Formats: sequence, C-alpha cells, structure tokens
Amino acid sequence: MRALAGMTPPIEGSCLCGAVTYVCSAAPFWSVNCHCRACQKLSGAPYVSAFSVPAESFAFAGETRPFHRPSEAGHQVTTWHCAACGTRMFAQSAAGTGHMNVFAATLADPSTFKAISNVYLSEAAPWVEPPPARFNFSKMPPRPKD
Ligand SMILES: [Zn+2]
Ligand SMILES: [Zn+2]
Repeated sequence: MRALAGMTPPIEGSCLCGAVTYVCSAAPFWSVNCHCRACQKLSGAPYVSAFSVPAESFAFAGETRPFHRPSEAGHQVTTWHCAACGTRMFAQSAAGTGHMNVFAATLADPSTFKAISNVYLSEAAPWVEPPPARFNFSKMPPRPKD
C-alpha cells in the first residue's frame, strides 16, 4: 500500500511519563479517527486517532501492560498501555498481526499526522463534529492487506 504523505520515518513517540518509547522505521499506510465505544472508554476521549505501520517496522522499549478485548467481529484486540502512567500506546488485532496500530497522540512530533478516514461514525460522540476525512465508514471497513 502507498505510504501516507507527510510522515517520514523514523517515526518516534512516547507515553506521558516517558517510560515507554517506540520507533517505526516505515511510513504509515493507513490512518484513522476511531469513534467506537471501546476507544472512547479506553481513552476517556470522544475518539482516538491512529496510524498503521507494518508490524516488522515497529519496535518499542519499556514496560507495557496489555489489555485484551474481543472486537465486534470476534477477534481478540490487544492494546498496550504504559505500565507506569497508563497511556494507551498501540494496538493490534489477532486478525491483523501484520501491522501495528499506533495512537497518534503519542507522537513525538504530531504536526505531520493526518487521519485519512473516520471509522465507527455510527458510535460517534454527539458532542463533537467528526473531523473531515477522505474516507468515512459507519462501522469498520474491510481490513487493509497485511
Ligand atoms: Zn508512561
Ligand atoms: Zn475504536
């Protein structure tokens, strides 16, 4: 898949306290604002922004705490949080182990991030207007190819 314009590797980020850091050596191939209820509850925010990179291009350091939940399609989704400060850092579905989804708010330089899609608009919080994006889905679109 074509890399998104603007984000040039290495792409680095960290949690709030700095104990967990990561680096992506490849450019993201997809980016999203996820408005699902699980993301809302896990983050405490109306939606979360994330980008996807090939799993083999992603590395992190520091102690994380995984949390597992079933997706709507029944696949196990794991989100990794900093063990110290709890920041939600990255996530992966058992149905898509070829890529890692990284939460954009953890970027060292968030200025180049742009979400090209909104997903789960059917669950969007009523108090915010979803940001304009090129692709808009009421649920989850078909998975990008690994
Ligand atoms: Zn932390
Ligand atoms: Zn979500």
